[in-house]
Amino acid sequence: MLEQFASDNYSGMCPEAIAALLEANQGHAVAYGDDPWTQQAADRLREIFETDCEVFFVFSGTAANSLALSSLCQSFHSVICHELSHIETDECGAPEFFSNGAKLLLGSGQLGKLTPDTIADIVLKRGDIHYPKPKVISLTQPTEVGTLYSLEELAAIRATADHHSLRIHMDGARFANAIAALNCSPADMTWKQGVDVLCFGGTKNGLAAGEAVIFFNKALAEDFDYRCKQAGHLASKMRFIAAPLLGALTGEAWLDHARHANACAAYLADQLAQIPGLKLLFPQSANGVFVEMPEHVIQALYDKGWKFYTFIGDGGARFMCSWNTTRDRIDDLLADIKAVN
Ligand SMILES: *Cc1c(COP(=O)(O)O)cnc(C)c1O
Repeated sequence: MLEQFASDNYSGMCPEAIAALLEANQGHAVAYGDDPWTQQAADRLREIFETDCEVFFVFSGTAANSLALSSLCQSFHSVICHELSHIETDECGAPEFFSNGAKLLLGSGQLGKLTPDTIADIVLKRGDIHYPKPKVISLTQPTEVGTLYSLEELAAIRATADHHSLRIHMDGARFANAIAALNCSPADMTWKQGVDVLCFGGTKNGLAAGEAVIFFNKALAEDFDYRCKQAGHLASKMRFIAAPLLGALTGEAWLDHARHANACAAYLADQLAQIPGLKLLFPQSANGVFVEMPEHVIQALYDKGWKFYTFIGDGGARFMCSWNTTRDRIDDLLADIKAVN
């Protein structure tokens, strides 16, 4: 299939992941994560985050989020998240299922972001025994609509979290794109802002599968290995999850791939903004571009074989760039849009 913009998970594996996978495929290794690649991938993440955190690997982002959240709250607690968040709209109830019923409390907010006020309103709405007690704030960085929480915004949310004794979960399915865009250290975006648990995405940034669940609050990681195993997320041949991730995390490959995807999105956004009748719905910050297009343009693009989603975020068409998006293919898309507009 030609390159598409429907999702960054349409892309294949990056060369660093492939090379590491082949290298790990030599001889036998101890199963269930007691292999050198798993140890090294976890150590590399501790190095990248400049702290002694607990690291686990699971197959999907849905599992990462759901298992992480279920270790942050009891079944009678609630999780405050944005109404557009993946955990609410795209995980088939898995966070509620794995937490045995913890409720998601939805907040609205401009640009796909929660604010301290929205969070406080939700917390203060009810304080009685009849309502699930707010326990966690879940933030998506970058957000579902491709925007970013600034470090200042994260700090303000952290203050609210501290005030109301809330824990912070970060859905970082595209965490690399956030770091590449804000150009800050991974530590500055996470534990230094009070993030207790980060779901660190690998798949969308060039792996076949694999997400890391990183506990900065190590006490919350107690028995998490059992939680993963029970949920069917303990890979017996763990080295094949860990090695490609380690390959991508070696040097700056993971950041270079994210920088490339972000730069492609910046170019696409810039070009789309110049086409009459089209309107960018959100400021482009990471690797996604959201644009309002006339219905006949959307239909004509589908007819020409382009694949993209129109149901993510607030409507409009979403175009995602990935680690191996090419300028030529973006130009093909732009040419087709101009031709049918
Ligand atoms: C893709 C994505 C996930 C993970 O989805 P899976 O399909 O379960 O791997 C989680 N959060 C966000 C914001 C995503 O975009």
